[in-house]
Amino acid sequence: MALKEQIVEQIKKPVALVHCKSYEPAIVRSALCAALDLLEPMSHFVKRGDRVLLKPNMLSAKEPSKAVTTHPEILVAVGELVLDCGGAIIIGDSPAGQPKDLEKYWDKTGFALAAKRLGVELLSFEEYGVRSFTAPEGHVSISEVALDADVIINLPKLKTHLLTRTTGAVKNMFGVVPGYRKSYMHSLAPDPLPFSRYVVAVYSQVIPTLNIMDAVVGMEGNGPSSGQPREIGALLVSEDAFEIDRIAAQIMGENIASLPVFQAAVEAGCWNWDENTSKILGNSLEEFILPDFEPPEVSKIERIPPILKRNLKRLIWIRPRSNPKLCTACELCIDNCPESCMTLIKDVPEIDYKKCIKCGCCDEICPENAIYQEMSLMAKLLA
Ligand code: SF4
Ligand code: SF4
Repeated sequence: MALKEQIVEQIKKPVALVHCKSYEPAIVRSALCAALDLLEPMSHFVKRGDRVLLKPNMLSAKEPSKAVTTHPEILVAVGELVLDCGGAIIIGDSPAGQPKDLEKYWDKTGFALAAKRLGVELLSFEEYGVRSFTAPEGHVSISEVALDADVIINLPKLKTHLLTRTTGAVKNMFGVVPGYRKSYMHSLAPDPLPFSRYVVAVYSQVIPTLNIMDAVVGMEGNGPSSGQPREIGALLVSEDAFEIDRIAAQIMGENIASLPVFQAAVEAGCWNWDENTSKILGNSLEEFILPDFEPPEVSKIERIPPILKRNLKRLIWIRPRSNPKLCTACELCIDNCPESCMTLIKDVPEIDYKKCIKCGCCDEICPENAIYQEMSLMAKLLA
């Protein structure tokens, strides 16, 4: 079956939405089994001898309590079920940018310990080859490890995002693009919609067999790296990544029609707006919707009437800035800025705003949360 047809086939597959109140191992395992009971057992997705890629979100080197990365207990619970089915597990991801010390990422996120408990190896996509594919905005290079896996189990985290406003199951697969190539795509396609075309193009080459979203504690505010943890208490499981993201967006109070990843998916023929055919199994969506969920500041600007945004263009802005109190002058952001517009001055990165494309890569990669989003006074008044 062609890849696009495979996505269309998955569209509107049901989503199991279940309570998962904490990351206690027994609670996570029980929530996961309850969700799979509503869909299909793990043995439906994983056969003996399958090479199974578990793809968590390992955006940056932060501990699980920061809610930036998929919680390691989710990884362990899923991994145990896969091993029970005779699957051979690989755990792999590529964080933002091209960090030098990947061991630190595995350790801080708790993935190293999770892999040890499962008795499996961790794998960095950076150390393996890629294959390239054409995409609407150019081409995408994808890790051979992901392309050659028999089964991909996608383990995203429910979070806000500075550029695409929400991030979840579809965007999590962007991590199969190794290292700096991800930042480079920001440079080629700085605006949300063109960049989202890349996201959808990558996703269409590595369609997960199953998606299990960690929404036990998600992230609100200026995600995906500098927002605040927010308790949601949910696990979402489905074959359809788009449908999981649609439901997650509703939990976050976002207007789905205006989300660039969905717009790009519609353009690519991978998604349609027919909202009445989806099916939620388990608990009702209303139990999880958070009316006071804090959106990223970019969402607030989106809500300003277009006529005001057009007429006051120069006065309405949001841009990254470094916080000298938190910055350790590690230069990670400088090394990974796709526009090379950051310079260390007196031990703090200064940004050349004439070149900055507001891609958010510096914010994502900073291990100290030392990059924040500065909003103009007019934007604050109108947002
Ligand atoms: S802002 Fe963050 S990533 Fe950049 S130099 Fe400072 S600590 Fe390092
Ligand atoms: S300064 Fe930050 S937001 Fe601006 S282009 Fe560089 S990495 Fe992107």
